[in-house]
Amino acid sequence: MSISEFAAKDFQAAVVRQKGGPFVIETASITPPRHDEVLVRVVATGMCHTDMVARDQIYPVPQPIVLGHEGAGIVEAVGENVTKVEKGDHVVLSFHSCGSCRPCQEGHPAYCENFNEYNFAGARPEDGSHALCGHDHKPLNDRFFGQSSFGAYAIANVRNVVKVRKDAPLELLGPLGCGIQTGAGTVLNALKVEPGSSFAAFGAGAVGLSAVMAAAATGATTIFAIDVVPSRLELALELGATHIVDSSKDDPVEAIRKVTGKGVDFAMDSTGIPAVIRNAVLALRPMGSAAVVGASKPGALLDLDANDLMQSVKSIRGVVEGDSVPDIFIPKLIDLYLAGRFPFDKLVKFYPLDQINEAAADSEKGGTLKPIIRIAAA
Ligand code: NAD
Ligand code: ZN
Repeated sequence: MSISEFAAKDFQAAVVRQKGGPFVIETASITPPRHDEVLVRVVATGMCHTDMVARDQIYPVPQPIVLGHEGAGIVEAVGENVTKVEKGDHVVLSFHSCGSCRPCQEGHPAYCENFNEYNFAGARPEDGSHALCGHDHKPLNDRFFGQSSFGAYAIANVRNVVKVRKDAPLELLGPLGCGIQTGAGTVLNALKVEPGSSFAAFGAGAVGLSAVMAAAATGATTIFAIDVVPSRLELALELGATHIVDSSKDDPVEAIRKVTGKGVDFAMDSTGIPAVIRNAVLALRPMGSAAVVGASKPGALLDLDANDLMQSVKSIRGVVEGDSVPDIFIPKLIDLYLAGRFPFDKLVKFYPLDQINEAAADSEKGGTLKPIIRIAAA
């Protein structure tokens, strides 16, 4: 099939036409890939809070839009300048970045100065054009995280396509593109948790549990998971936590001190709740480091003990997308998974595309940690 024949083909995509949704399954069509783009036949796409935040316009994106930013699929066609992947390659789609700003050039594409324009503008940042067209022959907003992968086909940029090994289960891999690399990367790339060290994950959702798994994989020997949902804490024990704290019942800082004496070497917050972030810093040992990863309400302020920070020489920092270079980090996580040392399959539940609204509701109610929308057979 040539690219131009392909471009005329109709397929199913989940479109959000109004604030709060729902996702509506509609027929859409897609343009051929441009010189620096890759057309991907999507196999499955993970769902994360950012999809809901965009659906609900808490993060304003133009509508109607096709969301989805944890896509996994097979390359169908590539633009003329693309040499990184070829037709038939298995790929995971991650966040997009400009490649020319200072953070990108310094090897931190997750901190791209143009991140919003490249991931949330609903159109190509270069010229405002779209790759998707709706059943009414009007353009659909797209390019969400440089992909818009809640549909049977997606166009990504060569920069946010990650080639992955073909012996890994492709339908499982999409969430590595955002939520899972965020937790794992915060531990491995940003905090650099060391063998024999102690780590505490405040919040044991998909991001927190990915951090727990990464801490265990890298050889941390004392690993706390703190949450208010008992089933998540039970799962944390299966994934490598050595201690769990239900913070609706027990004071996590006291519980951590009781085990460690002075506190943990490293902590990460994925709740975005200022009082919990404060506890993550209080729970550090002198010279310990804490990472803030959870999204807080706009305008949220932190209340920290300035002398504790200074006299105990503590560090606190923000981290986006696990400070990951996806082309390097995602294949590493897949190797760890296949070696049995990063069992992230325990977090996921699969849903067919026509149950995408159920997937969103289950995730929001807390019943499903990481929904994956199955779109086609691999
Ligand atoms: P999640 O909702 O599954 O996880 C949050 C967890 O915090 C839940 O298990 C919840 O029970 C727990 N929690 C709530 N209140 C608590 C409290 N008082 N004490 C302890 N635990 C408490 O979400 P997730 O998918 O794991 O994502 C976590 C956060 O990370 C979200 O805010 C998301 O938007 C953000 N995120 C950030 C990045 C980034 O790059 N920084 C990337 C992806 C997601
Ligand atoms: Zn950049």
